[in-house]
Amino acid sequence: MRTVRTVAELRSALAPARRDGLTIGLVPTMGALHDGHLSLIARAHEQCDVVVVSLFVNPAQFNERADLERYPRDERRDAELAAATGADVLFAPSVEEVYPAGFATSVEVLGVTERLEGATRGSEHFRGVATVVTKLLCMAMPDVAYFGQKDAQQVVVIRRLARDLNLPVRIEALPTVREADGLALSSRNALLSADQRARALALPAALAAASALAASGERATQALLDAARAAMHPFGVEPEYVALVEPDTLEPVATLDGETLLALAARIGEVRLIDNEILLPAGALRDAGAQGHAGAQGHAGAQESAATHNPSQPLEGEAIATCSA
Ligand code: AMP
Repeated sequence: MRTVRTVAELRSALAPARRDGLTIGLVPTMGALHDGHLSLIARAHEQCDVVVVSLFVNPAQFNERADLERYPRDERRDAELAAATGADVLFAPSVEEVYPAGFATSVEVLGVTERLEGATRGSEHFRGVATVVTKLLCMAMPDVAYFGQKDAQQVVVIRRLARDLNLPVRIEALPTVREADGLALSSRNALLSADQRARALALPAALAAASALAASGERATQALLDAARAAMHPFGVEPEYVALVEPDTLEPVATLDGETLLALAARIGEVRLIDNEILLPAGALRDAGAQGHAGAQGHAGAQESAATHNPSQPLEGEAIATCSA
């Protein structure tokens, strides 16, 4: 694996592959790699001839200075893990390379950025995400870019911008990778004390409680949200939000009539965590599975069959365009 730090180096590293018509996969990350990131790299390695992993802690998407400052960083470890998982190029640019003096352009996706994370973190968060992802796609010009369903709203935003800007890339969303006890892997988990790590189980517990209630036949949004909140109480955790929304538009739903995204965020001490799961009405598992939405991976035994999306197949309405094909 080769590490490059400038856009010019990245382009020249990829030029032979592009000339030979090989497929290029991009996995954007902010580093502190864990098995969630590695699942994206492994899938890219399976599906593409050349895999680029970007490692860039993007200041533009941090709405809290302290969060940016304490964000874990260990490039040497990340490079070893990425290489061992099949990355061919590690693109680790400086802040100045990505945002040179005079930088004045941003990408703003309207609508789907306004709820959930956008409502809590402010519009600059998704403006920062959309701008850096657009830039990374323009820099690497991959055929496929890989993202985690763990950041479900981010996937919706990136699909929207790729379609709206006619970017010639296929966006793949892969299931959330979890610890054995259900906690979604996150670079921020490293910042939790032992006590906070135990309390963080409030998030998967909330998802599991709402999933179980949905599986028992409950369809009323309020009852499902109440169950999720109640499951967090024993951990002494209050969510910043818990919402049931339509998975593609992120519009709130009144009843659980089909695949619905249950998304939540909570602070455990200083550490802000998010998680989500696709809920299905009782009896709808098989249909919804066949429909193949890129749903969150089931956890702790709850609705495992929701995670049946085959990422090599396009989602309904998904823009499919590749550089080489
Ligand atoms: P980050 O480094 O947090 O920006 O994440 C880089 C990519 O890894 C994003 O597409 C995330 O959605 C994805 N990711 C983060 N955590 C997980 C996880 N537990 N399972 C799967 N993908 C993840």
